[in-house]
Amino acid sequence: DRVVSGAANSQDLSFEQSLRPQVLSQYIGQDKVKDNLAIFIEAAKQRKETLDHVLLYGPPGLGKTTLAAVIANEMGVNIRTTSGPAIERPGDLAAILTALEPGEVLFIDEIHRLPRAIEEILYPAMEDFCLDIVIGKGPSARSVRLDLPPFTLVGATTRQGAISAPLRDRFGVLCRLEYYSENQLTNIVLRTAEILHTGIDREGAIEIARRSRGTPRIANRLLRRVRDYAQVQGNGKITMELAETALERLQVDRLGLDHIDHKLLKGIIEKFKGGPVGLETIAASIGEESDTIEDVYEPYLLQIGFLQRTPRGRMVTKLVYDHFHIEIPTM
Ligand code: ADP
Repeated sequence: DRVVSGAANSQDLSFEQSLRPQVLSQYIGQDKVKDNLAIFIEAAKQRKETLDHVLLYGPPGLGKTTLAAVIANEMGVNIRTTSGPAIERPGDLAAILTALEPGEVLFIDEIHRLPRAIEEILYPAMEDFCLDIVIGKGPSARSVRLDLPPFTLVGATTRQGAISAPLRDRFGVLCRLEYYSENQLTNIVLRTAEILHTGIDREGAIEIARRSRGTPRIANRLLRRVRDYAQVQGNGKITMELAETALERLQVDRLGLDHIDHKLLKGIIEKFKGGPVGLETIAASIGEESDTIEDVYEPYLLQIGFLQRTPRGRMVTKLVYDHFHIEIPTM
């Protein structure tokens, strides 16, 4: 369990429920996405139609689930939530679809993990609000068409590239969520602190925001840990000094990097002269799965310009040498 992981752990889940913004105006940042959605939602409401299907993509913890619920709220309808891996058989999906009430939002998290055969059932459901079901087997099998109520599918994925083209093409609205700025994260930390009745000054919030890897989930989690520290070691109030000390103790450095990032980056410098080095080779040398490196560790390191992907493999940049105060080797 990394304290700087964007993925939710069991503690996050119970705690996050109370922190989720309910409407677009409470949802901090992602201005382009919000502006577009506000127009589409208003237009659909004026025409008394369901909203077009929406695909949300971006790294874990950036607010996809939250935004799906906000969309349903703004449309004034219920949301039903499931996930790609939870739908194993065609019947699972058919049961969910036929239970929808007109206009409802169906949220499928990790939609890229839907089995292909199930994805194909979604196509007519999304396009024509109907289900094609095969009854019987062999030569006597026949296909029956079932009408579904109109609904809005909101899909979320951390990997846009993993979505098949036919599925992607059936979404009318594609929204790419971006990492949050330090200022936006500061506002998220201040908002969460207020909900939790935690005393914090702006500098304290900035210190937490700076180490949150552009990710609201991490910001909220670090705030929770710093709050514990403030309560036990301080007077309950979070200041910059207190946040700094607490986060150093959690081994989250000034850029939000932890010991695993350090191991990865220093490994490339020490074992491979800074790269380029292939992903598989890095994975083997630090004892991690290559998928984990690609999906979990790398995106933020690429985002802050610490890693570069080249045709010959990964390379660390000058910023990494500066960050660790290591001299760049001369060729
Ligand atoms: P994802 O589905 O992308 O993994 P979530 O929607 O579960 O992310 O967001 C994680 C947590 O971060 C939420 O509980 C919420 O409290 C917070 N959060 C996410 N986006 C925002 C935002 N734009 N404004 C305020 N809080 C946010």
